[in-house]
Amino acid sequence: MALLTDKVALITGGESGIGLATARLFVAEGALVHLVGIEADKLDAAVDELGADHALASVADVTDEAAVKAAFARGGERFGHYDVLFSNAGISGAVAKLPDYPSDVFLRTISVHMLGAFHILKHGTPLMNDGGSVTITSSVVGLVGFGDLSAYVAAKHGQVGLMRSAAKELAPRRIRVNTLHPGPTSTPFQDDIEMTATGKSQQDAAELFDEMIPLGRHTTPEEIAQAVLYLSSDAAAMVTSHTLSVDGGMSG
Ligand code: NAP
Repeated sequence: MALLTDKVALITGGESGIGLATARLFVAEGALVHLVGIEADKLDAAVDELGADHALASVADVTDEAAVKAAFARGGERFGHYDVLFSNAGISGAVAKLPDYPSDVFLRTISVHMLGAFHILKHGTPLMNDGGSVTITSSVVGLVGFGDLSAYVAAKHGQVGLMRSAAKELAPRRIRVNTLHPGPTSTPFQDDIEMTATGKSQQDAAELFDEMIPLGRHTTPEEIAQAVLYLSSDAAAMVTSHTLSVDGGMSG
């Protein structure tokens, strides 16, 4: 039996990586998806793949409140309401020691993750049916520290605080709010972090990171999508204010 039949889900960063893997799984589970991102070409390609009957795309930078509001207005017109919000857009920021970390990159990184997730909660939850689900993609480094990534680590920890506040506030409407904490997951986003952090080729850097993961390998975007599906479905009806790790034991 499909887990999201006729549910309406908004996914930020839904045109690539973890977001697109989740969109594919959601559609396979019967959902209608609204993808929000910044690159129109990638969004259009994703809608073509998923089918225009099942998917809508809006260009919006999640830090731009007016653009996020307009995207929700458009989705509201087409779908009427939302059942699931997946706040997943992200950037890695710089890989640099504290004295060298550019302050403008710090601010931008905090903004995309924290202000972005806040905008999704602020403008999305009024359009949600009671009993819905919000998942925010944090990271293994939203639970533990990692050097040379100060803005990203701070932003991913900050999302946990935002999630806990929203979970309490929205519980009377039975809207559940959780953070998901992927470990290194095979996407170009993570390849870039690993190559910059180690100065090695993609394969050599990935092998070094594999050694930090107790289960010995990177997670796939499809494995992350399965966890988002669980949190978004009625199977997780009593799961809220939870930090769900899918990291091969890295944060343990
Ligand atoms: P990804 O493919 O680069 O996905 C990130 C998406 O966010 C992209 O589609 C990107 O659009 C979009 N985006 C970036 N800034 C945005 C903004 N201001 N407004 C709207 N959309 C924006 O990488 P991913 O690995 O799937 O990452 C997805 C999430 O997982 C991120 O939050 C990341 O921090 C988190 N995460 C990833 C890993 C990992 O190992 N891959 C581990 C832990 C957590 P463009 O492609 O157009 O730039």
